[in-house]
Amino acid sequence: GGRQLGNGHSQGSALQFFGQAKKRINDIFKEIGEYIVETDKFVDDVMLSGQDIISQECCRVVKGFNERVNGIMEILARDRMKVAFFGRTSNGKSTVINAMLRDKIMPSGIGHTTHCFIQVEGTDSSEGFLLTEGSDQPQSIGSIKQLAHNLSSVKLEENSLVRILWPKSKCRLLKEDVVFVDSPGIDVTQELDSWIDKYCLDADVFVLVGNAESTLMQTEKNFFHKVSARLSKPNIFILQNRWDVSVLEEDADDVRKQHSDRNLQFLIDELKVVDKKEAEDRLYFISAREALVSRLHQDKGTPTPTGSLQEGFQIRMFEFANFERKFEECISKSAVQTKFEQHTARGKSITSEVRGVMENTYTRSLELTEEQLSLRREKNDELDYLGKQLKLLTQEVKDKIRSMVEDVERKVASALND
Ligand code: GDP
Repeated sequence: GGRQLGNGHSQGSALQFFGQAKKRINDIFKEIGEYIVETDKFVDDVMLSGQDIISQECCRVVKGFNERVNGIMEILARDRMKVAFFGRTSNGKSTVINAMLRDKIMPSGIGHTTHCFIQVEGTDSSEGFLLTEGSDQPQSIGSIKQLAHNLSSVKLEENSLVRILWPKSKCRLLKEDVVFVDSPGIDVTQELDSWIDKYCLDADVFVLVGNAESTLMQTEKNFFHKVSARLSKPNIFILQNRWDVSVLEEDADDVRKQHSDRNLQFLIDELKVVDKKEAEDRLYFISAREALVSRLHQDKGTPTPTGSLQEGFQIRMFEFANFERKFEECISKSAVQTKFEQHTARGKSITSEVRGVMENTYTRSLELTEEQLSLRREKNDELDYLGKQLKLLTQEVKDKIRSMVEDVERKVASALND
C-alpha cells in the first residue's frame, strides 16, 4: 500500500488553455466595450453640434452595440467545458467521475433509482450545496451520505436535472471550469431524443462507460448515432471499465482485442467521428474502482488497504491517467473552438460596424467642410467659426478611427488567429 500512483495535482494542465483563452477574450471585449462608450459619446457630441453629419439611424445602431457587447460578455462568463457520461446502469459512470474528481462526490449506484441527471459543477462558496430543477432553493449537503439520501427523498421528475455545486477549492477540474453530467443509464429510458436536446447539445466531450464483461449494446450505439446526427463529429471516449475483474480471466487478451476491434470499428467506420490514428486515443481499459480507492488514500496520505487493488493495477492506473490527459486536451480545445469562435466572430463584426459608422462620419464631415468652405468663399466669413469647428471635428474623427478601429481590429484578428 501507500504507493505513489502519479500526481493528480500536476501544473500546467491542458485545461488551463480554456481559462486563458476565456480571460483573453474577456479582456478584448472589455476594451471593445470601452471604445463603444467613447464612440457613443462622440456620436452624441456630433449630434449636439446640430450638423447634418450622422443620421438618427446610425445613432441607434451605435447605441445597440453596448447591449450586444454586454450580452456577449454575460454568455462568456457562463461558458464552461462540459463532459457528459453515458452507459448502462452499474457500469461505473459515477465511480469514473469520482475518480476524476478525486473525491466521492457523485453518489454511486443511485442514478438507477432516481432516473435523473446529476451535474457536478464548481462553486466559489466554501460549502457544497444542491439545486433541483424547478426550485432555486439551495439545499445543503451535510455529507455525501446525506446527499444520496436527499436525492432519494426529494420528489424528482424523471429525467430532470439535479445540480451538485461543489467548492472549486476542493477540486482542480471544477476549478478549471469543467462540468460533469451523469445520466440515468441508457438502458432505463425511452427518451433518448429529449435527453440529447436537453443535456447534450452543448457537451464538448461524451464518455461512454462500458462494462468490460459485455460488448456494446445496440441501445448504446443508437444513442451515439443520434448524437452524431445532431452534432457534427462529437468527441467520444469509450472506457471499458471493470477491467480489474476481466483481466483475471484466462482469455483476457482475446477479450481485450475483441473489445478493441469492435469499439474502434464503431467509432471509425460506423459513426465516422475519428480516423484510425485518432481512435487509438479514444479507448481505454480501466478500473474506476481501483483508481478511486488509491487516489482517496493517496490524497489522505494513508496506505491503500491490501485486497482493494488487483494484480497488475499499475497498468490500469496508468491507462486511467492517460485517458485523463487526452480527455483534458480534447475538452479544452473543443470548448475553446466551439464556444469562443462564435464570440470572436461577433466581436469582429461589431468592430467593423463601428468602423463603418466612423468612416461614414468622416466622409460626411469632409463633404460638409468642403461645402461650407466654398460657401464661405462666395459669401463672407460669416461661417468662419463653423468651418473651424468642423475642421476640428474632422481631425478628431480621423484620429479616432486610426487609434480605435485599427487597435481593436488588430487585437481581434490576433485573438482569432491564436
Ligand atoms: P453507475 O450506475 O454507472 O453510475 O455505476 P456506479 O459507479 O454506481 O458503479 C456500480 C457498482 O460497480 C458500484 O458498486 C461500484 O463500486 C462498482 N464498480 C465501479 N467501477 C468498478 C470497477 O472498475 N471495478 C469493479 N470491480 N467494480 C466497479
